[in-house]
Amino acid sequence: MSSCIFCEIVCGDAPANRVYEDDELLAFLDIRPITQGHMLVVPKSHSTELADLDADAGARMFRLGHRLALALRRSDLAADGANLVLNDGTAAFQTVGHVHLHVVPRRHGDKLRFATGLILRRSKEPEATALAIRAGLDRFETEGS
Ligand code: AMP
Ligand code: ZN
Repeated sequence: MSSCIFCEIVCGDAPANRVYEDDELLAFLDIRPITQGHMLVVPKSHSTELADLDADAGARMFRLGHRLALALRRSDLAADGANLVLNDGTAAFQTVGHVHLHVVPRRHGDKLRFATGLILRRSKEPEATALAIRAGLDRFETEGS
């Protein structure tokens, strides 16, 4: 599907700061993060909305979001929690028509920073950020949460 930006990222035709990849899933940094480390998890195979997403693919997508949320806690970003959000359909403000799960790192007391991030959505050191999350994921996989 050449008109889909996430399909272009999946096949390497568009750039992204990749955090995790396997045969079926890709996680990369959101280009306009709400907080530093905001990621998107996508099934590699194109589905526009939940209505055309295979249920097992959806479960795998959430499982990876779960792992990444825990990896953020183990990373140098030192998250205390995360918002996992999926906007399904334009009625729910889905703007990219390829199913994706947002994983947004949160810290205790970050309400103001979060609110500012929602407005500004500025990317900060994306390469170093992706590296830090990958290291957190390695830590989580070897040592657990
Ligand atoms: P949604 O409103 O749930 O459809 O969110 C789409 C998300 O995709 C937004 O947070 C965008 O910032 C993000 N996004 C759009 N284009 C790109 C891109 N090329 N690379 C990374 N993230 C993107
Ligand atoms: Zn797509």
